Amino acid sequence: MSLATLNDVLIEGRAQKYAVGAYDFMTPTMMLGILDAAEETKTPVILQFPDSPRGMADLDVFAPAMVAAAKKASVPVVVHLDHGKSVDACKRCLEAGFSSIMIDSSTLPFDENVRITREVVALCKPRGIPVEAELGHVGQGRDYDPDNYQYTDPKEAAEFVAATGIDALAVAIGNAHGVYKGKPRINYPVLEEIVKAVSIPLVLHGGSGIPDEDFKKIIKMGVSKINIFTELSQEATARLRKIENDKLDIFSATEAIREGFKARTLEKIKLFETKSI
Ligand SMILES: [Zn+2]
Repeated sequence: MSLATLNDVLIEGRAQKYAVGAYDFMTPTMMLGILDAAEETKTPVILQFPDSPRGMADLDVFAPAMVAAAKKASVPVVVHLDHGKSVDACKRCLEAGFSSIMIDSSTLPFDENVRITREVVALCKPRGIPVEAELGHVGQGRDYDPDNYQYTDPKEAAEFVAATGIDALAVAIGNAHGVYKGKPRINYPVLEEIVKAVSIPLVLHGGSGIPDEDFKKIIKMGVSKINIFTELSQEATARLRKIENDKLDIFSATEAIREGFKARTLEKIKLFETKSI
């Protein structure tokens, strides 16, 4: 009933200056924690499944569970492929019932990125499935160096969106995946130029570790999808560590993971001002 597409939740977000969190997970327990938070706050949510070798090997098991959970939910739930590495991976997720696809060819030259992204858009558009793609490159936090960083070029961004027909653009504005080496430094002038050049919703990857004040500013400027994973996993791990030895078993561990994912997702929903339905 409530399987939603990326456009269903992001277009209003960009117009009304709030963001919807996109939360990665690797097990059903983590997914349920994220959904608990969305249900409790009555807000839309994006469930992200990463294109990892392990995840894709189990896609046939995970995809029906994600789609079923989305349909059962009382809030709009987007089932999204995060960082699709190939056209083939995108195809598999489309066939498995995903309602949103990201193709990431951002490490390739501009023309190649355009060509592959167009191919995915051509597959998805006829089925009404929105596509996210990335320009510039959001690298890993462990290699983070804001002085030597591949920012999204605002002019190229406009050209890329027009040439590909994508629905959401992941930008590189000083953000990085995982734990940041040093402090994240958002390049606001670059973001401002991108916002002026591109009217589709913008996406920030590597949201874990970015200070709250930066988030507020980024969202008010027009970023409407924010990807979070590391912080959720850190919260769950901290809760696991707090379980006393004689109480640690598979039940208490499962509960700690679900509650950890829920608690940190709740915080992000509040911070992003995700609007209730
Ligand atoms: Zn990412």
